[in-house]
Amino acid sequence: MSMTLPKLAEELKKWKGCDLAKTANPVLGEGNPKSEIMFIGEAPGEQEDKLGRPFVGAAGKFLDELLNSIGLKREEVYISNVVKFRPPGNREPTPEEKEQCMPWLKMEIAILRPKIIVPLGRHALGHFFQTVSISDAHGKAHTLTDDVTIFPIYHPAAALHNGGLRQALYDDFKALKDFLDKRK
Ligand code: URA
Repeated sequence: MSMTLPKLAEELKKWKGCDLAKTANPVLGEGNPKSEIMFIGEAPGEQEDKLGRPFVGAAGKFLDELLNSIGLKREEVYISNVVKFRPPGNREPTPEEKEQCMPWLKMEIAILRPKIIVPLGRHALGHFFQTVSISDAHGKAHTLTDDVTIFPIYHPAAALHNGGLRQALYDDFKALKDFLDKRK
């Protein structure tokens, strides 16, 4: 039987391969399983841990606004994270935690087979490109393979701490829309 996203979520609930799984609830991605676009954040925060869903706290509200600004609803796309459990106190995930959770992200990508992947922030960008910084790479299309384009954008939470980034995020989403429109 082939793997599906709901089955993957069930498997993740049983998984104890990372220390974070001892203190936090599993949060797999969610959204349209047929979406060509996949957004990838860093790790769940407090609200995400409580509800078991990605991007449902303050950063998630802003992500919804950014999606709406280019005519997309969150149900139309697929949204996930590099790390599937909340790091205590919302600290950044360690390289080891990212490594331990990597198979889950890889399986989500293998099932979804997105054509455009949008890493939100440097942790997700680092999953694909280790030598470029988010400040250089954001807002532009980067070819990963013949079939897959990586379009990095700053993490929405960054704009909650640094108001100056708000407009950069809107501009990047507009650039993403222009890129999507050109493919049609
Ligand atoms: N930040 C993330 O990177 N992911 C979430 O799900 C929420 C906040």
